[in-house]
Amino acid sequence: MIVTRFAPSPTGFLHVGNLRTALFNHLIARKAQGRFILRLDDTDPERSRPEYADAIREDLTWLGLGWDREERQSARLDRYEAAAERLRETGRLYECFETPTELDLKRKRQLAMGRPPVYDRAALRLDEAEKARLRAERGGYWRFRLDQSRIEWEDGILGPVSIDAASVSDPVLIRADGQVLYTLASVVDDVEMEVSHVVRGSDHVTNTATQIQIIGALGATPPAFAHHSLLTGAQGEALSKRLGTLSLRDLRARGIAPAALLSLMARLGSSQPVELSDDLDQIAAAFDLAQFGAAPTRFDEADLLPLTRAHVQALPLEAVRADLAAIGVPEDQEALFWKVARENITVLADLEDWWRLCRDGATPDVAPEDADFVRVALELLPPPPWGPEAWSSWTTAVREATGRKGRGLFMPLRKALTGRDHGPDMGDLMPLLRHKPEF
Ligand code: GLU
Repeated sequence: MIVTRFAPSPTGFLHVGNLRTALFNHLIARKAQGRFILRLDDTDPERSRPEYADAIREDLTWLGLGWDREERQSARLDRYEAAAERLRETGRLYECFETPTELDLKRKRQLAMGRPPVYDRAALRLDEAEKARLRAERGGYWRFRLDQSRIEWEDGILGPVSIDAASVSDPVLIRADGQVLYTLASVVDDVEMEVSHVVRGSDHVTNTATQIQIIGALGATPPAFAHHSLLTGAQGEALSKRLGTLSLRDLRARGIAPAALLSLMARLGSSQPVELSDDLDQIAAAFDLAQFGAAPTRFDEADLLPLTRAHVQALPLEAVRADLAAIGVPEDQEALFWKVARENITVLADLEDWWRLCRDGATPDVAPEDADFVRVALELLPPPPWGPEAWSSWTTAVREATGRKGRGLFMPLRKALTGRDHGPDMGDLMPLLRHKPEF
């Protein structure tokens, strides 16, 4: 059974980078008819907030990324303590006493001597009496003793990875205040929840190395790992600088369609072209982790607009009825208004602008050289309501009266009626317009 998980910390809103992780894991499980777990990594009581957990569920639901099971790490602390106890018994978890300032000093000294800032394991050389004294004085925290060999795995995206454990500090698993850290909690969960595939950002590669050893020390078999590249902004800048503007809820508020986001994210950074689809089964069927590259992936928010436009324009009337009703389009005009407006919008919120034009009319946009022409033309226009033939009869009459034709005839009339130089077919639009412009 393929089991994947998405494990956000509920310490903020989900952003596009998180979405990539969530989507990949969801698609892998979906494609294989496996299981997808939503795991809230909320062991940090200070930063974790229930309202962020709610927001995460809401964002995933908006995207259609449902989950089969939900877990919260804060409800599993006894499991982590049990695992820690096992590691203590086998001598793989050891107590340390350096303060952050002391550790910082050590690192600076190592760097000054041109050595990698790896924890020197001084705590392993303390005798029981010294430990008892330090424990009473400041309390201890716990590190996992790495086996200093090479750690290797076949990464689903990066290919073969080999990391020298001697170049990595023994990871802290439990803080002095007793808080179990992610590195251990995640391992215990992945093992106990039988997670078969862990896909996460490449910022976790070193974690993976240490976690593989912790899993081994707990007598379990590591899952398959894959690390996707991190997203950068369109100019290659770190995305985190712009997180605020790229939260999924901001994109939702801007009218970005879930289909656009999912279709883009399922392919961005891979060798497969982006294809718009609102069918997650179809997206999952074509999803292939092996097609993704290791290089940072540029994400340009602007790419979501043409995809959203294509998605929105293809929506059937039924899908937008509520939106039309909400802006006051009468039922008997819904079909015609949707036909007229759909080709001219990017997000559904743009509908309102077109409806305002129909309902309230527009200030005519008339170039000085067209002023006389428009005046003559408007005299030939009967008052509304206008039927489906109104535009063609009117333009015929105006052509006969003025001799103008083509663009010189149509464009000034469009601008006089709508106040803009682009928009829907005027034949379709005129029956929706309620006001004859004053000029
Ligand atoms: N809570 C971790 C994070 O958001 C989870 C990483 C993982 O997938 O193991 O970075």
